Amino acid sequence: MADYDFDIGVIGGGAAGLTITAGAAQLGAKTLLIEKEKELGGDCLHFGCVPSKTLIKSAHVYHQMKTSERFGLPAVQVPPVDFRKVSARIQSVIDIIQHHDSEERFCNLGAKVQFGSPHFTDEHTVQLNGNQYSAKNWVVATGSSAFAPPVPGLDQTDYLTNREIFYMDRLPQSMIILGGGPIGCELGQAFNRFGTRVTIVDQLDQILGKEDRDMADTVKAVMASEGVDFQLGALIESVRDNGTEKEVVIKDNNGKQIALKAETILMSMGRRANTSGLDLDKIGVDFDRMGIKVDNRLRTTHKHIYAAGDVAGGYQFTHAAGYEGGIVVSNAIFHLPRKTNYAYLPWCTFTDPPLGSIGMNETMATEAGIDYKVWVEAFEANDRSLAEGETTGKIKMILDEKENPIGVQILGPNAGDLVGEWVAILNGKVKLSTLAAAVHPYPTMGEINKKVAGTFFSPKIFSDKVKKTLKFFFHLKGRACGPDVCVE
Ligand SMILES: Cc1cc2nc3c(=O)[nH]c(=O)nc-3n(C[C@H](O)[C@H](O)[C@H](O)COP(=O)(O)OP(=O)(O)OC[C@H]3O[C@@H](n4cnc5c(N)ncnc54)[C@H](O)[C@@H]3O)c2cc1C
Repeated sequence: MADYDFDIGVIGGGAAGLTITAGAAQLGAKTLLIEKEKELGGDCLHFGCVPSKTLIKSAHVYHQMKTSERFGLPAVQVPPVDFRKVSARIQSVIDIIQHHDSEERFCNLGAKVQFGSPHFTDEHTVQLNGNQYSAKNWVVATGSSAFAPPVPGLDQTDYLTNREIFYMDRLPQSMIILGGGPIGCELGQAFNRFGTRVTIVDQLDQILGKEDRDMADTVKAVMASEGVDFQLGALIESVRDNGTEKEVVIKDNNGKQIALKAETILMSMGRRANTSGLDLDKIGVDFDRMGIKVDNRLRTTHKHIYAAGDVAGGYQFTHAAGYEGGIVVSNAIFHLPRKTNYAYLPWCTFTDPPLGSIGMNETMATEAGIDYKVWVEAFEANDRSLAEGETTGKIKMILDEKENPIGVQILGPNAGDLVGEWVAILNGKVKLSTLAAAVHPYPTMGEINKKVAGTFFSPKIFSDKVKKTLKFFFHLKGRACGPDVCVE
């Protein structure tokens, strides 16, 4: 049997790579982790989830200050945002989390950490900083980067991506955001709240293209009411830097050519897999712009080379990367043939209100040919929502032909956390009657989960048939008050 330096080598120290490294090393596998940046943590920590959610919180507080009268408070004239201070707060949050993702921690777990950009020299060996490292199994977990489409002029124009936007030294006065997906919408709303004039351009005729239109349109309406401009159903024709500002020429949804101008451009038109420089093609691993081709055990065209996280091109979320990391550990270290199953993978877009989702939405159910029914409960009927002044949105529970829940979307306050209850219900195959009967604390947003399940049972419990049966057995006397009768 060939003798390799390591049992497993992991390329990329982000959510997927760190999960695999920690799991493999703690199970006693001799593990090598290679990261090209100076620190571990990946996009989520440095250029993704953590900085964006920290930024969104600052924008939310600033928005609350500007709209204080909504809460019966005095109106205040707030000074402009000093973005360097927002950026410093972002860095301070990252610094705290960085301790958890430190080289020392992984070394203490038993893994060897190396920094640099490796490339494969054969199916089991990489070259890094002049040295060769061989491993029985390899995992490519190199993540993704902002995709820049081949638009005329773009390659000669400076634009921002998620790598630069959190670290600017001042707030731009205006920003054109190319792409109305989760990243474009989250950041668009936040920068608009800070005072930047924001225009979001998307070729689709709705924002958040993976979501049901009714939910996405509500998010858009809220953002538009706060001042975000949208150009939807628009084609980007060219981009240029005219010296004082950037110009994006689009054909709008009426076919009219418009030149949008702004101080800066943010690119959020999807992601491309980070595969360059690894020489995957030279060792025969299949990939394209969207990602490395994997089977349902996350094995590439070479069964001992795995790919996990964004680079595998599936669900591009930190929790998906962590989940996939666990699948790789099962297959590569335990040798248990564990397959991926994304049926109940939840996600949330952290706009205000946020939009959380699990399982199928209406569009997906329609495409799957399911004869579904939707049960809806509005946040404006939730006491806590009223108290908080956060009444926009609703929950949609989708049931299949057998009246089993197949998906839930929540647009409203704390949606990401509220989806958590459905994670347990759907994965645990918990009956809806259990949810409807379970006591939830009052007053909480979480009651909306119980309420939507209760709404499903209401017509069954309070039916004429049930009333007649009870009257027959227990001689109930019927209504005491109503349009025709009022008994003293
Ligand atoms: C603005 C923004 C906001 C986001 N918000 C959320 C959110 O709220 N919730 C959520 O779940 N997800 C969010 N995401 C997505 C999330 O960040 C990614 O899904 C997640 O980071 C993927 O983890 P990963 O391990 O696949 O890749 P990464 O975390 O990117 O890690 C890949 C690592 O590989 C390294 N690497 C790359 N190439 C090489 C190479 N050749 N050699 C060695 N190392 C290499 C990189 O430096 C990086 O450290 C957001 C993303 C962005 C951009």
